[in-house]
Amino acid sequence: VAKRQGRPLGTYSASMREEVSQRHQMQQDLAEAIKLAQLTMAYQPIWDNRSGRVAKLEALVRWYHPHWGQVSPADFIPLAEEAGLIQGLGALVLWQSCRDLARLQQSGFPDLQMSINRSTLEFQTIDPEANEWLRVIRHFGLDPADIIIEITESLLMESSDQHRVRIDALREAGCKLAIDDFGTGYSALNYLRTFPVDLVKIDRSFVRHIPFNEQDRLLLDGIINIVHNLGMQVVIEGVETREQLNFLCQKGCAFTQGYLLSRPLPYDDLVEYLTLNRQG
Ligand code: C2E
Ligand code: CA
Ligand code: CA
Ligand code: CA
Repeated sequence: VAKRQGRPLGTYSASMREEVSQRHQMQQDLAEAIKLAQLTMAYQPIWDNRSGRVAKLEALVRWYHPHWGQVSPADFIPLAEEAGLIQGLGALVLWQSCRDLARLQQSGFPDLQMSINRSTLEFQTIDPEANEWLRVIRHFGLDPADIIIEITESLLMESSDQHRVRIDALREAGCKLAIDDFGTGYSALNYLRTFPVDLVKIDRSFVRHIPFNEQDRLLLDGIINIVHNLGMQVVIEGVETREQLNFLCQKGCAFTQGYLLSRPLPYDDLVEYLTLNRQG
């Protein structure tokens, strides 16, 4: 801080201006990429440990920028939210994910489900009944029950009537609801009591030190039990080691996802992965 104070003010405003204009440029590029449908999808397998098969896929959006290369969604999703581009981005993601799930179901993987991330902002629209989302799902001949909508705790926190109407409409149509990054927000347990979700995705920070840290082991074990007792499915994210997987299987955790099992894959690689693992 002391060093910073020593610098002439002009440097600051210049570099700040540069940053702002860079942000602005990125937003314009992103708007263009969305308009031209240049964003693509990667799909990460979610394994069912009981049946020993891939049961679900998480759809993760990808953006290859001609100058910057692969940009992380952790960076461009907030940008899209800020620039009012998230609805268009979300529509593109939904379209591609549904198209690809339909292709997969028709080519020998009829039981797969698709889990799709939704920004909280996407719940504030002029389409409270989610008719547009449901139209896309049905357009591809999909059963809404095979679509999982991933929301974060921030949605539950802000939960207004408008959010609630949309969520109820989706669930009435048969869609499943998941809480993402569970345990990273506030008073998470309270939401489980008041909010009807089907699936809870436990944030990967809870598995990081498993099985070596006893405190973390007990905590994770407790969370898994609570969620199961509430009749919800548990997905553990960020499984990177064999030891973690063994621990989770012992605890009866049915669904796991992480680099140990597979990275997010483009469609063709995914088909290869699924074909290879079907025989196992
Ligand atoms: P998320 O929903 O929590 O997604 C999981 C992230 O963890 C993904 O990063 C995935 O590649 C990564 N991951 C999976 N397994 C492992 C592992 O074993 N270890 C580690 N260290 N990481 C793992 P990704 O694809 O970069 O996405 C980052 C975030 O961007 C997502 O976090 C999600 O919040 C957001 N996002 C991605 N796609 C979409 C989308 O289509 N719509 C919206 N609204 N948000 C999206
Ligand atoms: Ca089905
Ligand atoms: Ca997610
Ligand atoms: Ca997550």
